[in-house]
Amino acid sequence: MAEEAKIMNIYEAIARHPDLIGTFFEHSGTTLIVLTDENYIVLDCNDNLTRTLYVPNKPVGRFLGDFVCSMEDQEFSLIVSKQNQKPLPQIVRICYTEILYRFYTFACQDGYLLIGDQMGSTDNEVLESMSLLNNELSSMSREMSQKNRELEDAYAQISELVRTDHLTKLANRRYFQERYAELYSLARRQAMPLSVVMFDLDHFKSVNDTYGHAAGDKVLEAFGQQLLNDCREEDIAARFGGEEFIVCLPHSGAEQARAFGERVRQELSAQDILGNGHKITLSAGIADLQSEDSQEALINRADRALYQAKTAGRDQAVVDKTGRLRCPQR
Ligand code: GH3
Ligand code: MG
Ligand code: MG
Repeated sequence: MAEEAKIMNIYEAIARHPDLIGTFFEHSGTTLIVLTDENYIVLDCNDNLTRTLYVPNKPVGRFLGDFVCSMEDQEFSLIVSKQNQKPLPQIVRICYTEILYRFYTFACQDGYLLIGDQMGSTDNEVLESMSLLNNELSSMSREMSQKNRELEDAYAQISELVRTDHLTKLANRRYFQERYAELYSLARRQAMPLSVVMFDLDHFKSVNDTYGHAAGDKVLEAFGQQLLNDCREEDIAARFGGEEFIVCLPHSGAEQARAFGERVRQELSAQDILGNGHKITLSAGIADLQSEDSQEALINRADRALYQAKTAGRDQAVVDKTGRLRCPQR
C-alpha cells in the first residue's frame, strides 16, 4: 500500500481533518464564526455567538444586522474581503454589549462566511490599535512632508541647471533673454536707465591652440567667476556664446556701464589664470537704452561697439554713440 504524502501546509492539514477544525470552531470561546445567505440571514454559527447573545439556540433565520453593529453606533455595514487578497479587518461590536471582534467577511457561494477574533470586553485593545494606526499615519505624513521637501529641492536644482551654463556657472543665453526682457520692460515703464555690456575674449582661439582646450576652459571658468563677483545682485550676467559674455545692468547709464566694463577688463588682464604669465585680455562693447531702442536693438548696438573695440586694437571698452546721436535731447 502506497504511503500517504506528508502534510506540509496548514491548508492541506485542514482539508484532511475538517472535523477537528470544525469542532474547534464550534466550541471556541474567542472565535466567532457565522454563515449567512446573501441577505445576511444566519444559516449557521458556532456556540460562541449563541453564548454571547444569551439565547438558548443558534439564532438561525435571524438578520445578522440585528446583533452585529459597527464599533461606534448601531449601523450594520460589513467590509467584504476579496478572494486571493489580503483579508480586510473590521472592528464590530455585538449590539447592546461592549464585546468587540476583529471581523473578516468573505463572500462564499450564495452568501457570506464571517470570522471574528474577540478583542476583549474593554476598549483598550481597540484604542491601542487605533493609536498604532494613528502613529503609523503621522509617520507616513512626516515621510510625505520629507519627500515633498526633497522634491522641492530637486526641482530647485533642476531649475538652476536649466538656466545655468555648466562651465562658467553664469546664466545661459536663454535665461538671460528671459531676465533681460523683464529688466527692459521695467526700465521702459519706470523711465530708468539700463545698459548692456558685451565682452569677447581676445585671440581666444590662440589660447586653445597654444595651451590646449582644457586651458581654454580654465580661462572661461575663471572669467565666469570674476564676472559673478564683479556684478551687483540686480545685474544679470550670462555666457552669450563660446567666449562671448553679456551683462545687463539695470539703473546704470552709459558712464556707469563703461566704468563697469573697464573694471572687468582691467581685472582680467591683471590675472594670471594659466599660471604661466600669459595675459588674457578682452574687448567690451557698451550701449545704454535710448528711447528708440527695441530689446534687440540695444543688444545690437552693444555688439557694434564691441566690434569697434576689436578693430581699434582690442583690450579696450567702447561705448556705442550712435543711439545718442539720434537722440540729442538726452
Ligand atoms: P577675437 O579676438 O577676434 O575675438 O579672436 P578669437 O580667437 O577670440 O575669436 P574666434 O571667434 O576666432 O575664436 C573663438 C574661439 O573660442 C574658438 C573656439 O574654439 C573657442 N571656444 C569657444 N567655446 C569654447 C569652449 O567652451 N572652450 C574652449 N576651450 N574654447 C572655446
Ligand atoms: Mg567671439
Ligand atoms: Mg574672441
